[in-house]
Amino acid sequence: MERIAAKYVYTLEGKDPIVEGYVAFDDTGCIRSVGPCTDYASEAVRYDGALVPGFVNAHCHVELSYMKGLFRKGTGMAGFIDQINALRDTCPQEEKVAGIARWMQTLWDRGVSAMADISNCADSFAVKAASPLYTRTFLEVFGTEPQDVPAVMEGAFRLQDSARALGLDAAPTPHACYTMSPELLTASSAAALSAGFLSYHSEESEEEEMMLRYGNGPMYENRVKAGMRTPPVTGDSSLMYFLDRLEKVHPAPYDEHVLLVHEVCMDRPGMEAVKARFRHAFVALCPLSNIFIHRALPPVREMRSAGMRLCLGTDSLSSNDDLDMVREMFCLQENFPDIPFGEILDWACLGGAEFLSKEDELGTLSPGKHPGIVLIDHLDRDGRLTTASTSRRLVASAVRRDRP
Ligand SMILES: [Zn+2]
Repeated sequence: MERIAAKYVYTLEGKDPIVEGYVAFDDTGCIRSVGPCTDYASEAVRYDGALVPGFVNAHCHVELSYMKGLFRKGTGMAGFIDQINALRDTCPQEEKVAGIARWMQTLWDRGVSAMADISNCADSFAVKAASPLYTRTFLEVFGTEPQDVPAVMEGAFRLQDSARALGLDAAPTPHACYTMSPELLTASSAAALSAGFLSYHSEESEEEEMMLRYGNGPMYENRVKAGMRTPPVTGDSSLMYFLDRLEKVHPAPYDEHVLLVHEVCMDRPGMEAVKARFRHAFVALCPLSNIFIHRALPPVREMRSAGMRLCLGTDSLSSNDDLDMVREMFCLQENFPDIPFGEILDWACLGGAEFLSKEDELGTLSPGKHPGIVLIDHLDRDGRLTTASTSRRLVASAVRRDRP
């Protein structure tokens, strides 16, 4: 049994930290007890910072790690898609895999214990299978031509077979309304829901909303110019269009876990519609990615007051300078200073654990769990993050895979 103490211990069983607290754990990393120190000064191992559970990164595309530093910022969604298409095949395979391995290690060392990770190909599978960092892999599909649906889904199921052969939890998932035919959106959603987990890029930009509501805007023009089909103009938000396509899989209510990624343009009717239909709906905030592409942030206060369950993700190095949960939390803290740090931390740890159905193992420093223990340092006098704050893993996590 080991025991470590720190100025603050965030168990995340409540929002407030224990001041001058300790965590005791066994050699498997299983938490045995947590509490306030009776004599802090006499604790053998004391850290000047906060002990927190391992993070759950709710949205990443680790396979795009080779794209770090290649993108122009603030281009909006249409410009971003042009850049990704131009850059996708510019890097040798060994360099791509080496980048994935390096960033998986960095994520782990900085305290990420689990991750919802998007894959369009098999590049990251072997690295993820060998990593102690638990991942659920979302095999994302695109395709604007309805006649391509069988071939696209067949490709996704082939990828699922190779991921599962390596022991990964993986299933297909839809990408976003603007890259898919309505038929493919429904077919891939059906595959995701039958696996129990769906992750979907939703309402990421004003351009996406204009496309669906009015059939105009830069993204719409780009697609038309490229001779691609565009989604139907519905006169309503892109989120409502997604909910309509889901109804074609099966009617609400939904017991499956559904993660809406970004939601920069989410409005109150959208929040109410999500709450009415889903028993386990989650929103993944990726604030630094939103600033990188759109110079915009999601309506976090409104989401919070509507009772949306929030998670936090880094997105990929194509739209972020780093994969660092502390920087994402700091961005939220700076832009929404009225939200307590303990609550932002809850989104970064327990929110993602609940989405992945791993809250019995991860997300809080509770006796019996194996969440990993992470130190966040360089806090200010009020225990909040500063520009100098970093995180590092002190204790490993242990997570069971869902598949035998
Ligand atoms: Zn993404």
